[in-house]
Amino acid sequence: MQAMLLKEYMHLEVVEMPQPSIGPDDVLVRVRACGICGSDVHGLDGRTGRRIPPLVMGHEAAGEVVESGTGVSDLRPGDRVTFDSTVYCGRCFFCARGEVNLCDNREVLGVSPGPYRRHGAFAEYVSVPRRIIYRLPENLTYEQAALIEAVSVGVHAVNLTPVVLGDVAVVIGSGMIGLATLQAVRHAGAARVIVVDPDEGRLAMARSMGATDTVNPKTTDAVEAIRAMTDGRGAAVALECVGATEPIQTAIACVRKGGTVTLVGNVAPEITLPLQSVVSRQIRVQGSCASNGEYPASIELMSSGAIQVGPLISAVAPLEEGPSWFDRLYRHEPGLMKVILRP
Ligand SMILES: [Zn+2]
Ligand SMILES: [Zn+2]
Repeated sequence: MQAMLLKEYMHLEVVEMPQPSIGPDDVLVRVRACGICGSDVHGLDGRTGRRIPPLVMGHEAAGEVVESGTGVSDLRPGDRVTFDSTVYCGRCFFCARGEVNLCDNREVLGVSPGPYRRHGAFAEYVSVPRRIIYRLPENLTYEQAALIEAVSVGVHAVNLTPVVLGDVAVVIGSGMIGLATLQAVRHAGAARVIVVDPDEGRLAMARSMGATDTVNPKTTDAVEAIRAMTDGRGAAVALECVGATEPIQTAIACVRKGGTVTLVGNVAPEITLPLQSVVSRQIRVQGSCASNGEYPASIELMSSGAIQVGPLISAVAPLEEGPSWFDRLYRHEPGLMKVILRP
C-alpha cells in the first residue's frame, strides 16, 4: 500500500509499505480522508518527542471497513466508519472507571513517543481495534468525519465545564479546537460566547460560527473588554485552547469569582500561574485531555448541523501532496486551518 512515512525528522515521503495485519479484535480500514493535526506538524522536527521516525502519522481519519478480525461480528466490508485517536486497553484501573482517556496503557494512532510505535492513517490502510470504531451517518462526508476527533476534544472540554443555561463563556484561541469548543459551549447553553484571538481572519470565522463577541488582544485589553461586557464581574467560564502563559493568564483574569477555567491547549510544558488570583477568587482550574466517550455525541452534533466543520476545511488533497502541505503548515502559511489528505 501507499503510505506517507516520516523517514527522519523534517523528511516525509510517500512510499510503498506492507498492508497492516489485523488481530482478532481489529478491523482493517481503507482510509478515505485523514486530517493533518497541529500535533503532527509540531512533531515533524522532533521537538515534541512524540513522533520518533520512522512513523506513519495521522489520527484524524475516516474510511470504509475492508476486513474484520475473527472476533468482530458487527461490521461488514464497505461500512463507513471513523475511529478515535486513542487506543485504550479496556483492562486498567482507569478504563474500569470509564475514564478511557486516562488509560494507563493509552496509545495514540500515528504516534511513536518511545515506549510504542503505532502507525497511523496517512496510508491507504490502517488497522484499528473494533472498540474505538464508530459508524458514520450517511450525511457526513469522509472529509467532515475526519474532523470528528477535533470536535470531540471541544465537546469533552465543555462536558467538564460547569456551564448552565444563560452563562457567559469565553473561548481563548480560535484555531480548530477553539472553534469546535465555541460551537459546543453555545449548544451547552451559553447565552454569550466571547472569543479571544490575535488573528482577525479567525475572529471573523468565530463570529460566523456563533461567537456573539470577539476580542483581539493585539488591539484591545481582553480582560478589560470582557469585564465591561459582564457588569465588571467576568465570565462564568473560560475555555483556554492555546496552552501558553499569556492566554492562560487572560483566561484566569476574565472569569468571575467562583468561575471555572478549563485548560485544553497543551503547548508550553510549564506556565506562570497567578496563584493568589486563583485561590482568593476561588477559581476552579480544570485540565481536559482528548475525549472520553464523546464520539457519538460529536457525530450527532455534526450530523444535525449543530456543529459545523465545513468552513474549517482549508484544502483536500491527494496523499502524494502530503509532504508539501506539511511544509506549508510548518511554515505557518496564513489562512490555513484544516488540511485533509485523501490516501
Ligand atoms: Zn489531533
Ligand atoms: Zn486502560
